[in-house]
Amino acid sequence: MKFASYRERIVWCAAFLEGEGYFTASRKYSGQIDVGASQVYPQVLRWLHDTFGGTFHQKKFKDNKWVEQTVWTVRGVQAVGVMMMLYPFLSEHRRAQIRRALDVWKSRRINAKYKVVCKNGHKLDGVDYRGKRYCVTCRREQWKNFAKEKRAQLHLVKAG
Ligand SMILES: [Zn+2]
Repeated sequence: MKFASYRERIVWCAAFLEGEGYFTASRKYSGQIDVGASQVYPQVLRWLHDTFGGTFHQKKFKDNKWVEQTVWTVRGVQAVGVMMMLYPFLSEHRRAQIRRALDVWKSRRINAKYKVVCKNGHKLDGVDYRGKRYCVTCRREQWKNFAKEKRAQLHLVKAG
């Protein structure tokens, strides 16, 4: 397919994903947000890939009988970009899906960023080398248990 302009390409992608795509974010896996589509004949997915990047994998779908399909996906910030770019060209039904996905994605990110206590309720007072906060009390406890275990193993080795 030859596209006359970038806009034409985006409109074509929007129309395709309107019918065949999905726009999702997971509450369970923090920050996971996807745009994707699956097809038996992967040619059209190539055009999406040329436009937005992303990855391919193979999957078997039940479609009367089990058929092999190619799945195209973009994830994370890249998926957010695709959603925002396509938004003006999509139906209200699809727009609502995108708003839901973005809400989930945003809230998960904010929760992780502003989390102030560990799962045991201590203040997150340590910062690791990646800038991620952690609980000094629990970390110390983990090391103590680890050391205790190591000593016990050594003891067993000596005793045996
Ligand atoms: Zn703790």
